[in-house]
Amino acid sequence: MLLLVAALVVAAVVAMCMCWCMFGCARGKKEDGDDVTQTRAKDYFETVDTEDVSYMDMCSDILKTPSQFLGELTFSVLYDETGATLKVQVTEAQSLPDCDEQTTCDPYVKVTLLPDRGQQFRTKVIKNRFSPRWLETFSFKGLSKEKMRKQVLQLCVYDYDIITRDDPIGAVLLPLCEYDFKEWRVFTEPLKLAAQDCGDLQTALRWNGSTLTVLITKAAHLRIQGFNLKLDPYVLVSVKHGSKTIKKYQTKTMRNTSSPQFKETFIFGLEQDQLSEHTLFIEVMDSSFIGKGRIIGRLVLSEHCATGVSEKNQWHEMVTSPGQSIVRWHRLKEELRINGRKVV
Ligand code: CA
Ligand code: CA
Repeated sequence: MLLLVAALVVAAVVAMCMCWCMFGCARGKKEDGDDVTQTRAKDYFETVDTEDVSYMDMCSDILKTPSQFLGELTFSVLYDETGATLKVQVTEAQSLPDCDEQTTCDPYVKVTLLPDRGQQFRTKVIKNRFSPRWLETFSFKGLSKEKMRKQVLQLCVYDYDIITRDDPIGAVLLPLCEYDFKEWRVFTEPLKLAAQDCGDLQTALRWNGSTLTVLITKAAHLRIQGFNLKLDPYVLVSVKHGSKTIKKYQTKTMRNTSSPQFKETFIFGLEQDQLSEHTLFIEVMDSSFIGKGRIIGRLVLSEHCATGVSEKNQWHEMVTSPGQSIVRWHRLKEELRINGRKVV
């Protein structure tokens, strides 16, 4: 009897050990699997240079040529390499339109560098002038030559109003890669219409013949809507075949920021010949709004339709450079226009 009890105890201990070992091994495998996935995503992010990104494509998505003349802006640019400073003089504007319906205009200019928008300046308001003269100089400091050449100078002209919101009149964009600005260089440029500024999104795309990898890197200066005081942004990433959603992912929600860093990777399995039939939809949402998430802006990328020039170019470069990560900034679109036609 004693022997039987001892045998049972030994058998029970052996069984428990086996169970623990199997459970432990299984758990080890699962953790290994998770680690591998996370490591792959992390490695992928680290191999993508998200700083050295051209902003040039985006310029044509931000400004549209107006149907009527909006006036022109004269400004000068100088780069001091020793002091790592870019100087911008806002000189004057000519023939600005009537912005107050009382044959007046009270213009001022906001000056910044895209995509960072870290330093922003504005001139004083000159009241009741269609051709104002400012002669104000602003200095963007701590700007290396390499960084300067990747930035785009943005000058936006507004009409100051006392009671209502200031009216945007027009804007000029100057990619700084085009000149070295060793001496003052003078520009007189026609003002163009600026699209609604919902903010910018940076993405990386990679196609390897069977998978489409989408990296949502970061967003910048997302627009806070209505009476909200803050944003809790997240991104929806989906691939559609016609109107049918094949797969949809969502990033984590970032709290109380209009310039979130996501760094999340999503993988869509597609056959080689299927890529041209599928469309990538990216929607930046705000969850801080009461009830369901509210859209801040969107992008569409595919071979046949895209919401803008930078989207079209990124997709094309991805298709023609398999295995390479193609990084781009995009200006988010408020409404969905594909090939010039409004969809949403
Ligand atoms: Ca006005
Ligand atoms: Ca005014």
